[in-house]
Amino acid sequence: MQVSAEELHVEEVRLRYAELLQDESVFPTEANWEYIIKHRMEGLGDDLLEKYIDAMTIGDVDRVDLHNIAINRFHDYLDAVSFRYAVNVVYGNISNKEITVDLIRRHRLFDADNLAELIDCGEISMVMDVIDVYKPEYDAGDLEAMQSLLHKIDELPARGYNEMRKGLFGTTLKYICPAGHVNDAATTYCAHAGCGLDRRGFTETQSRALETYRHRIAALKSLLWHHSH
Ligand SMILES: [Zn+2]
Repeated sequence: MQVSAEELHVEEVRLRYAELLQDESVFPTEANWEYIIKHRMEGLGDDLLEKYIDAMTIGDVDRVDLHNIAINRFHDYLDAVSFRYAVNVVYGNISNKEITVDLIRRHRLFDADNLAELIDCGEISMVMDVIDVYKPEYDAGDLEAMQSLLHKIDELPARGYNEMRKGLFGTTLKYICPAGHVNDAATTYCAHAGCGLDRRGFTETQSRALETYRHRIAALKSLLWHHSH
């Protein structure tokens, strides 16, 4: 194997950046980002995501230009590197769930295997917030992983239940949502302000997203079948 002087130089810069980025207070400049993105530098993603999360969550008083640059350019970075690498980076740090969900949605980083792992870790609501996201391309392996994720979700135990509750006007059947709110038994989505959970612990939006996902699996199955016959 031979490497060119140009490749060698880029690798030198990449290693230097990797070292510099270890410092919590160091943020890449616009020119640094430009270089990183132009050369689709993998291996820096975990540190760059860390910078992005810091920049997104820093208070207005402490925010400087380098934070705003990180907020803008991290998206270009995710689009520049390979899909597989971007998936590994984003699912590798879920310390801020809102940010993770947003990145998965914006960059179409749907990955059934990682999402199945998140279900196992109890991050069900987060998975349901991205279940209807497309990925750029699908193959037979994706279909299998998507089916197994769906199965996992369908098998989740119900967390809300109906129960007889004593009230002023006698004992009536009530729906107790997963958060413990008491509703009329006929209620599907908890009516308590800011809750909205059904018996599986899903909001109406999440339930609809799950049905979208179910139909997507059927469509993918049909497409792949037609392609192979
Ligand atoms: Zn509730």
